[in-house]
Amino acid sequence: MSVTTLPDELSEPARAFAGREHELLIDGAHAPAADGRTFETLDPATARPITTVAQAGPEDVDRAVQAARRALENGPWRSLSAADRGRAISRLAGLIEDSADELAELEALDNGKPVKLAKLVDVASSVAHFHHFAGWPERTFGETIPVRQPDMLCYTRKEPVGVCGQIIPWNFPLLMAAWKLGPALAAGCTVVLKPAEQTPLSALRLGELALEAGMPPGVLNVITGDGETGAALVDHPGVDKIAFTGSTAVGRDIGSKTGRALKRVTLELGGKSPNIILPDADLDAAVKGSFQAIYYNTGQACNAGSRLFIHRDQFDDVVASLAARARKTRVGRGLDPATQLGPVVSAEQHERVLSYIEAGRQEGAELVAGGGAGEGEGGYFVEPTLFTATDDSLTISREEIFGPVLVAMPFQSLEEVAARANDSEYGLAAGVWTRDVGSAHRLAALLKAGSVYVNCWAASDPGAPFGGYKASGLGREHGREGLEAYLETKTVWTSLA
Ligand code: NAP
Ligand code: MG
Repeated sequence: MSVTTLPDELSEPARAFAGREHELLIDGAHAPAADGRTFETLDPATARPITTVAQAGPEDVDRAVQAARRALENGPWRSLSAADRGRAISRLAGLIEDSADELAELEALDNGKPVKLAKLVDVASSVAHFHHFAGWPERTFGETIPVRQPDMLCYTRKEPVGVCGQIIPWNFPLLMAAWKLGPALAAGCTVVLKPAEQTPLSALRLGELALEAGMPPGVLNVITGDGETGAALVDHPGVDKIAFTGSTAVGRDIGSKTGRALKRVTLELGGKSPNIILPDADLDAAVKGSFQAIYYNTGQACNAGSRLFIHRDQFDDVVASLAARARKTRVGRGLDPATQLGPVVSAEQHERVLSYIEAGRQEGAELVAGGGAGEGEGGYFVEPTLFTATDDSLTISREEIFGPVLVAMPFQSLEEVAARANDSEYGLAAGVWTRDVGSAHRLAALLKAGSVYVNCWAASDPGAPFGGYKASGLGREHGREGLEAYLETKTVWTSLA
């Protein structure tokens, strides 16, 4: 075993699972990679290995896709009634809830996030997501169309899109899997799920829970590996749809491949989301909310509020309050219950975030708080960092950093700030803090973003659509629109003459 000493805080179930050498989960059974390759998953709080995980190659991807195809076309999944499919999804929700502590600890260990956050957000929202989608199978139906031809019956059927390749990132590993699996399973699809190499553990546990919930073998296959594994899944001709969350660069690549192959695709990509504090805002609430908007999950959220526009009259006060909060924040290991801000996920991200901080300094932004790598056991810590700038064209004002780095910029008028907020290749989210209902909704209409938050940030619900304008993605997740992305519409014509 390559297992190193696991942290003392882990409960027995999490310790037992994390300590195992992990194989792929294909057709309801664990199996090593065909070529025997493995990789290590690390604890970002210490940079030490947790355990080894199988590295799926093209042969394994092919086996997983074939298992998913069999489960789709021949298996009991297809013949299950809509009600029973919903019940299986509900049972999965219940099992996740029963394993909440174990899953939260696995997430804190593998990703680095505070265990409290993992339980309250990642696990609880995953449960809510599966419960929501458990209700859709019985509520998904076609229409009868009043066509012009006499003696003709025309109706539509809603059918599963087929075998889905789902590729997810490391920032919310369990929750991103839930976002993709909920609608896919509700639609009757089968899935090959590829978690990020940095955080494979919770998806592997989820695959086991799906089997325990009574999902037939092959319905959910989990293949661990790296970007090449993901690319092999995208390229596989047996995959009907790709759902991806991750970087815009990889999203563009996947979009061009799926476009050529005419596969269905949904893409949830990056962001550089503007957050605007108008002069009439409740400033205490705005400071608290704007702080969370960026530093939550160590800034590793696609909808992080990473560009903060503050009216120039309140600029200095708001910046001082944010800086005071940043200095008080407890940076540490996710498994330490006192931690407010965990490490970033990997050495690569650590280097990347620190290099953006360096670019901010070099290009003349003023560093108001943080800026350094935190202390501690060789982990990938970064202090909550706050810059001010007057130039919107700085690298740190334009590029997605995906770390705890905020740039605050002053503005003067509503029209001016709307134009500056929209001057970005991205369009995932935007926020407005104001007590004036007119300004709130004027801005909500002006901002080019898939979600606009008024006097809140990152509000989310399994029924409320989420996704990006522009380079932030294609399609929407959650609710009816999220489900539609996993359905084909078939039109049936019957002559009654
Ligand atoms: P990434 O490369 O886009 O990874 C996302 C997922 O795609 C992972 O499962 C990854 O596998 C897989 N993947 C990588 N290359 C692929 C390819 N050519 N074809 C198919 N799948 C592929 O993201 P990253 O490198 O981990 O992070 C880099 C930056 O992406 C971050 O700094 C951040 O800006 C952005 N990001 C955004 C989100 C989001 O929620 N929108 C999430 C994560 C990262 P492996 O990880 O196993 O290689
Ligand atoms: Mg890890």
